[in-house]
Amino acid sequence: MLSIDVGFDGSCPQSLEGVRRDGESAFTIFPSWRASPGITEDGIGRTTRLGFRVRNDASTSVTGTMHIDWQYGDAGPGADRYSAIATCELYMAHRDFCVVGPPDDEQWEYVIGNVTASVSTFEVVFEPGITEVHWHPDYNYSRGEAFVESLRDHPLATVELLGNSGEGRNMWRVRISDDRDCARKPFLILARSHAYESGGSYMMEGMVNYLLDDNPWAAAARRDWEFHIIPMANPDGVANGLGKLTTPAGRDVQWALPVSDDPTYVTLMQGVKRVKPAYVVDLHNWQTKGVDGAVGMDAERWQRLQEFLPSVRSFGKRWWWRGPSDTLILPDGRQTLRSFCRERFGAHGVAFECGWFGRQPEDVRALGTELIRGVLLVEEQWDSTYR
Ligand SMILES: [Zn+2]
Repeated sequence: MLSIDVGFDGSCPQSLEGVRRDGESAFTIFPSWRASPGITEDGIGRTTRLGFRVRNDASTSVTGTMHIDWQYGDAGPGADRYSAIATCELYMAHRDFCVVGPPDDEQWEYVIGNVTASVSTFEVVFEPGITEVHWHPDYNYSRGEAFVESLRDHPLATVELLGNSGEGRNMWRVRISDDRDCARKPFLILARSHAYESGGSYMMEGMVNYLLDDNPWAAAARRDWEFHIIPMANPDGVANGLGKLTTPAGRDVQWALPVSDDPTYVTLMQGVKRVKPAYVVDLHNWQTKGVDGAVGMDAERWQRLQEFLPSVRSFGKRWWWRGPSDTLILPDGRQTLRSFCRERFGAHGVAFECGWFGRQPEDVRALGTELIRGVLLVEEQWDSTYR
C-alpha cells in the first residue's frame, strides 16, 4: 500500500486536500490546489509546480499509478493574462514527464507519461521507503539555506541578512570580493524570483562556484567586480510550493514596478538599491523542453558571448535570445527589475532561462558556471585591442 506525503518545504500541493486516493496504489494529484485562491501561475489550471513524496511501507517494490490533474479547463476568466501557454495542448506538451528519486539524491530519473486532456499519468516502480516525485528537480528553501551556510567560512565570501520575507524567512545577500583596495563595479546575481524555477538556483550555485574558483580569469573578475548574490528572492513561494508568486494571489517580484507593500518585494528592492548594480544577471527556468533563453542582453554582447558558450545541443536544446526592450516601462506600468537597474544605475543585464528536460542538477550548475564565465570574459575583453 502506498501513501502520499505533502505539506513539506517545496511540496505542491501543500495539503492532502489536493490529493485523491483512487486505489491501493493509485492516486490523482491536483497541483493547482492552493490554501487560498491563486492567480496567474498559481491559479487553478495554470500552475507551474508539482512535488510530493510517495511512501511505500511494504518490504518489496510496488508499482503505483500517479495521475496528475493539471485542470487546464478549470481556469477562471483572465487566467492567461500573463501566460504564454495559450492552449491545453501547449500546456501539456511540457507536462508529459516527471522526475523521481530518493530524498536528498541529485540523480533524478525522468519518467515519461501519457497525456489525456490535461491529465498526465505515470506508472512508477516505488522501492520500499520514500520516493520524491517532482515535475522538475527540486531545490527548496532548506537547500538554499544549506548552500548559503556552506559559504560562511569561505575567505572570499561574506553572508549578510538583507531582511525577511512576508512569512519571516531569510533573504540573504552573499558578497564575493577579494577586498583589495581599488574601484570595482557592483555585479548582481539574482535567483528564484519565480518560485518554481529551480533551474535558477542550480545555475546560481554554478556561478558562485566559478566566482570562488582560483583560476586566473575568475581572480581577474574579482579584481574588477564586486559580486552580490541574492540567491533566493522569493523564499515563501519556494517553501510554500507556489508557481511564481510570493503568496497564491501575491507579488511577482521580477517586477520592480508597480511599487508594492509586499514584504518580500520591499526587502528585495532595498537590497537591489543598496547594491546599485552595473550588471544584473537574473536567473530563471522556462518550462519549455527544447529552449534555453537569454533575454535582455544587447546584440553585440550576445554575439560575443557565443564564442564562450558550450553547446546545449547535446541536451536537445537551442538558444533563444531577445535584446533589451526599447520601453523601460511597459504600457501597463510594469517594469522588470533589470529595466529598473538599467534606468536607475545604467546597468547591463540579462535573464538566463534554462530548460530542465533531460538535465540533472549537475548539468545546470555547469551551465551556470559557463554562463557567468562567458559574461565576464565578454566584459573583460570588451575594450581589448583585437575587438
Ligand atoms: Zn521566471
